[in-house]
Amino acid sequence: MENNNLNFIKQNVTAIRNSLPSDVLLVAAAKTRLPDEVKAAIDAGIKIIGYNYVQEAEKMHQFIDNELQWHMIGHLQKNKVKKAVKLFDMIETIDSVELAEMVNKQCVSIGKVMPVLIEINSGKESNKTGVLPENVYSLIKLIHDLPNLRIQGLMTMGPRFGSPENARPYFKATKSLFDQVKNEGIPNIEMRFLSMGMSNSYQIAIQEGANIVRIGTVLFDSRC
Ligand SMILES: *Cc1c(COP(=O)(O)O)cnc(C)c1O
Repeated sequence: MENNNLNFIKQNVTAIRNSLPSDVLLVAAAKTRLPDEVKAAIDAGIKIIGYNYVQEAEKMHQFIDNELQWHMIGHLQKNKVKKAVKLFDMIETIDSVELAEMVNKQCVSIGKVMPVLIEINSGKESNKTGVLPENVYSLIKLIHDLPNLRIQGLMTMGPRFGSPENARPYFKATKSLFDQVKNEGIPNIEMRFLSMGMSNSYQIAIQEGANIVRIGTVLFDSRC
C-alpha cells in the first residue's frame, strides 16, 4: 500500500470528521478495505467501524487492537449470529422477530447485552432487507422485552437512484417514524440513534435528523 494512499485516507477522515456536527457519530464502512487502510482511518480518529459481513469483520479483528466499536451494518445471516454477537458492539440491522430472538439467545449464553437498531426498508423495495415502515410497531412490540437486546433506534439505507436528493423523502419519513416510536414510550427501549446516509447522501441525512452516518467511499478512495 502506497503511503500516499494512506495519507489521502487520513486527510479524508480528518476533513469529514471536522465537517460533522459534534453529536453525529461517524461509522467507517470498511468493506473490502485492507488492514493498512483501516489502520490509517483509525489513526486519523475513526472510533467506529462498520462491516457488512461477519467473516470480514472477524478477519480484520486480528489486525486491529485499538479500542474500537464494531457495528454490523449488513444483513445478518442466521447461521452467523453466534459469531456476530461476540464480534460486534452494535447490530444495526435487526429486521425480524426470528433474528432478534436468535441474537438475544446467543447474547444470553455469553452474558452480553447487545444494543441494536431496527433496519427500516424505507423505500419499500421488494428486493431489500429491513422491516417495512408500517410493520415496525408490531416488530418492536414482539421484541422489546427480550432481556439481552437493547433497541436504541432505527437504521435505513433508503433507495439509491439518481441524485442523493431523491433519498431525502425516505430519510424524512424514517425520522418521523423514529419520533413516533420514541414518543410511544415503549418500555425497555431507548430511541437514541438514527443511522442513515452514506458517502453521497450523509449531509442530506444529517439535515433530516441522522446522528449516525455510515461512510465508505469518500473516506477510503484516494481520488475523492
Ligand atoms: C458500503 C455501505 C455504506 C457506505 O457506502 P459508501 O457509499 O461507500 O459511503 C453504508 N452503509 C452500508 C450498509 C453499506 O453497505
